[in-house]
Amino acid sequence: MKILVINTGSSSIKYKLFDVDRQRLLASGAAEKIGEETSLLTHGTVLPTGEKKEIVEEQRISDHEDGLKRIVDLLVDPEHGVVGDKSQISAIGHRVVHGGEAFQSPTIVDEEVLEAIRENIPLAPLHNPPNLLGIEVARRIFPDSLQVAVFDTAFHHTLPVEAFLYAIPCRLYEEHKVRRYGFHGTSHAYVAERAAAYLGRPLEALNLITIHLGNGASMAAVKEGRCVDTTMGMTPLAGLVMGTRSGDVDPALPFFLAFHLGMSLKEIDDLLNKESGLKGLCGTNDMREVIHKRDEGDRAAEIALDLYAYRIKKYIGAYFAAMGSLHAVVFTAGVGENSPAVRELCCRGLENLGIEIDRGRNALPGGEIREIGSPESEVKILVVPTNEELRIAQETKRVIESKTRT
Ligand code: AMP
Repeated sequence: MKILVINTGSSSIKYKLFDVDRQRLLASGAAEKIGEETSLLTHGTVLPTGEKKEIVEEQRISDHEDGLKRIVDLLVDPEHGVVGDKSQISAIGHRVVHGGEAFQSPTIVDEEVLEAIRENIPLAPLHNPPNLLGIEVARRIFPDSLQVAVFDTAFHHTLPVEAFLYAIPCRLYEEHKVRRYGFHGTSHAYVAERAAAYLGRPLEALNLITIHLGNGASMAAVKEGRCVDTTMGMTPLAGLVMGTRSGDVDPALPFFLAFHLGMSLKEIDDLLNKESGLKGLCGTNDMREVIHKRDEGDRAAEIALDLYAYRIKKYIGAYFAAMGSLHAVVFTAGVGENSPAVRELCCRGLENLGIEIDRGRNALPGGEIREIGSPESEVKILVVPTNEELRIAQETKRVIESKTRT
């Protein structure tokens, strides 16, 4: 079954086409700078030998519909394509950032679902509108394929009330759905399942802490297969120190910035989301550069890295306590998969919790799932490459198959 996975942003469409039954990636790419003078279309195909071919086109893409049409043209192109005809694509899986409380699992898109995603726009004003647009455009271009929405928030729907409710007047939850939702759910779910398979035990028999460290970063406490807490909140601003987001700060900070520095709400929003985190602390949001600067003796970079790791370490302790016991800690995403230095800093000093990294194993490169704990470490420490798009494709297939069975 061939499934196209689409992640639509305000000026971009990222895509991956999978042969899900064989777990094979056939093509991937992105249309970027949509609507600008010069747009960029990158399209890569993966040959059966594993060899990759890439082409880049620079020409104006007027809107998202134009963008998706160009992508389809490339997918069926006799020279660069991987399918003979778009009808061979059985379904489109869409990443939708915010499912609110309405969506606890992937869902086949119909008018009602579109309306419910629309109702969640106030909770994710930057993400849900382009996600919706992507679905609407794909429905027009693929009228005969099923569209499935896979939500970033869904994996966290099992959070107990004490983990999701904020201590503010209840009516804000009851009337406006103000609560912790959590994000990166597709990634947390994927790596938790992969970790369980690697450990040779059912996910339901394990307590895991999954640590997704990309440009955005979050952690999840996964107790017996169910997510019981996560660091992001009603929005993706809460929790860990990220590339450009502050993560946790005193909730009164915006009042100080407004009352004493005269900043507008928009300026505060930009400051906390786009100018903070690693970038705010040491001038760059690229972890490779932060580490390089620290190694060159840059004190601000050293502090940034320490703060980044300290926050993660605190949440490891908190989630260990929340679950009562812990079988494995799982690192994933750009930083988590690739930075031995960050992983070591996060685990340093946790030996009394049974978390003991093996410096040799940790330093080994590798794109595969691997163990980096010492043989004495009671808690396993794993690096698990995430693959959110594959997970979306798999979920899409599962939803379609369960529909055809009923
Ligand atoms: P993602 O959002 O998952 O693509 O992750 C992006 C982040 O991963 C960026 O901050 C990169 O600097 C970081 N990253 C990628 N490769 C490495 C590496 N080898 N060492 C440290 N950080 C890395």
